[in-house]
Amino acid sequence: MKKLGVLTSGGDAPGMNAAIRAIVRKSIFHGLEVVGIERGYSGLIAGEFREMNLSSVADIIHRGGTVLRTARSETFRTPEGRGKAAQNLRAQGIEGLVIIGGDGSFRGAQALSHEFGVRFIGVPGTIDNDIPCTDYSIGFDTAVNNVVDAINKIRDTATSHERTYVVEVMGRNSGAIALDAGLAGGAETILIPEIKVNLDEVTEKLWRGYQRGKLHSIIVVAEGAGSAMEIGKAIKDKTGFDTKITILGHIQRGGTPTAFDRTIASRMGAMAVDLLMDGQDNKMVGIISGQLKDFDIDYALSQEKNIDKSVYELASILAI
Ligand code: ADP
Repeated sequence: MKKLGVLTSGGDAPGMNAAIRAIVRKSIFHGLEVVGIERGYSGLIAGEFREMNLSSVADIIHRGGTVLRTARSETFRTPEGRGKAAQNLRAQGIEGLVIIGGDGSFRGAQALSHEFGVRFIGVPGTIDNDIPCTDYSIGFDTAVNNVVDAINKIRDTATSHERTYVVEVMGRNSGAIALDAGLAGGAETILIPEIKVNLDEVTEKLWRGYQRGKLHSIIVVAEGAGSAMEIGKAIKDKTGFDTKITILGHIQRGGTPTAFDRTIASRMGAMAVDLLMDGQDNKMVGIISGQLKDFDIDYALSQEKNIDKSVYELASILAI
């Protein structure tokens, strides 16, 4: 193999830059040429290609987002769109692709590979940590730390004013951020889409705390577990407590990536290059119990990523 391509796709995640840097520098170390494809699959179809060299990735390891930009592409969901993408890759002489993105991006790559024989390795990059076959995806740790920072600040005002705060965090289908940030932030209650909780249980717990003299509470809600506005209003109506709602939104995915995200991004990116050089493809890289592993993409996408229910139970016990 002489030339490979790299792109970031789907939602941006802090640490994607560290992965791009690792892919570019590891490839150059082995004498390969590397092409950066801008704006994910959209740029792949439009031919937004640029040669990458050692200095193209200088000074980016500490920056959030992705220097290659990212996008969502409806055209890539069609066989015609993917055909154009495959044609552009052939025209550029790109023999393998590294795709940094979430499960949607992996499904797109899987189709491109099945239909047009494009060789690829997927590197999991999403703050949601909802990709099977990996304990962590790039960006999750930074997002959790961003949420914990916000909870710390909210706690100061919650304590001072003796208020109940409902804090909405990202996660339409996954409670991973809510769970880890809720545990680390000492939230009294965590609401996630994976575990249905009756709102009466939440208010009863608030009452029990109130009777013991606990006058402030933090409830962390993942987007997919219900509307923070409605939950906050229901709590206020049922308890009469001064209840405020904070929706953290996009600040969760920004900022400098944590050391953990930079480390796994560097290791996973480098491994993706090794796999392509070794003649392997149609796989994703994952990290399991601290060890890098590779998984066939068809297998990986047929699996489910579940949250660890024992962590949820522990968070409930500790937040008495
Ligand atoms: P993420 O990779 O973060 O999960 P998306 O689900 O938005 O983000 O997927 C990113 C892009 O991947 C989409 O805009 C689309 O171009 C492509 N894609 C997603 N799912 C499929 C699919 N089933 N078939 C083909 N392409 C897909």
